[in-house]
Parts: sequence; C-alpha cells; structure tokens
Amino acid sequence: MSIRGVLFDVDDTLFDYSGSEEAGILAHLGESGLLGRFGSPGAAVAVWREVMEGSYARFLAGELTFRGQQEERVRRFLARLGEGGAELLSDEEAGAWFAGYAAHRDRVRAAFPDAAPVLAALAPTHRLGIVSNSSTGHQRAKLEAVGLLGYFGDAVLVCSDEHGEAKPAPGIFRAGCERLGLAPHEVAYVGDKYDLDALGARDAGLRAFWLDRAATGTPVGERIGVLHSLADLPAALGAAPVASAVAAPVASAVAGPVGGAVAGPVGG
Ligand SMILES: [Mg+2]
Repeated sequence: MSIRGVLFDVDDTLFDYSGSEEAGILAHLGESGLLGRFGSPGAAVAVWREVMEGSYARFLAGELTFRGQQEERVRRFLARLGEGGAELLSDEEAGAWFAGYAAHRDRVRAAFPDAAPVLAALAPTHRLGIVSNSSTGHQRAKLEAVGLLGYFGDAVLVCSDEHGEAKPAPGIFRAGCERLGLAPHEVAYVGDKYDLDALGARDAGLRAFWLDRAATGTPVGERIGVLHSLADLPAALGAAPVASAVAAPVASAVAGPVGGAVAGPVGG
C-alpha cells in the first residue's frame, strides 16, 4: 500500500532544537554572569533541560499555558541556582528573563541540513504536514524563520496546544491525516522520540519512522522503520531520491491554504 503523505515532528527532527537550546542558554547565562555557578557548561545545560522537561510536561498535561511553562522554567531554574526570591518572580520578570534566553537561542536557530532537501524531494509526490507537541503559532514562526514553512500549509500544522491532546495520543496523529485528506494507512510519520513519535504514530495506524540521528542501534518494535538521516526517507517510502540541488520551498497545491494571521506565543 502506497504512502501518499508524510507528517513530521519539528523539534530535533526538522529543526535543531537541542543545538539552539544549548547555545542560547549558555550565551544567556554568560551574559547574566551566572555561568560560573555551574561546574561546567554541560552541567548548566543539563539543569536547564531537566527543568524544561518538567515544566513542558505540565504544559502538555494542560496544567500550564505555553507561556506559563516558560515562566515556570525560569523560576525553577533560578531557584535551583539558589537565587533568593526566584519563586516569587512575577510573570513579567520571569518572561523577560526567558526572552533574554530566547533571543540568544533564536540567533542560532537552524533547520538540519537534510530537512529542506528531503521536503523538496517529497513535495511533488506527497502531501506534507506537521504534528507537534507545541503551540501552532510558535512552531509556525520557527518553521518560517528557518525557511521550511513554505513546504507546509497552515492547514496541516497540527499542534497539541490547539488540538487539545499531545503525542502519543492517537487522535493528534489522526487529526494530521485528516488535514492531509488521507487515511492513516496512507501516511508516514517521522520523529526523533521513540515513544512519543514512533510508537504513537504506529499505534494510530500510520507508517512510523524513528529518526535515530545518533545511530544508536537501539532495537525497535514491530512495524517501526529506523532512519539515521532524513535523506534516507524517500528511499524508505519508495519515492525519488533527494536531489543534490535544493529546490525553493513551494506551497503545494494539495497542502491546503497557506497564510493567516500569526497568533500565539513565540519564544520557545
Ligand atoms: Mg522531536
């Protein structure tokens, strides 16, 4: 049975989230005079990520807004550093600290080098979309900033904040398929998180690919494909290989309407 559409995860799949996150927090801590509080830059990044994961889980559970999880991250991170009164920071103060981080992060944000070529290779033959555990406005702005938004229409950008449930719930994958106008068995999903992305998509009835960029060799379950690079995806789908020249992003006629006002929080 042939695959007619592909849905992608964004962070650490198309977009180098971890790289920009690391550069952003190190630059912000350096500028704030806080980097020396850690034994090493790696230790600072580890604490920031640990705090992020806790706050982001509360966002995905519906306990915090997208902006609220950013503010909570700042309070918890500064409290871990022993900053007096960190827990009492106002939303505005915490938001301003986060904005300082986000400005550094966004200066270095970039798509992975294999992202645009694979989207260009698939766009003529496949309907393309996004299913992400995030905010639609945030992800739209990010994809636009790194030059990938033109491969997708707003109609096929499905994010948990607006959809109401997060991966690995099957409903969010099926919502992505519906936006593509395809049945789940006609759609592939590609993501870097094995549980959320690969198992979630497979269990929702899609063809699932786990993007293991580090080539860890981790054994995978039944009906899970493994990719070490996005460049391997067209061959795995039986589609034409990635061309050496990167075509300019185009709004696919089958991808639905493009445009609409930018809404929602922007800043990570
Ligand atoms: Mg991801």
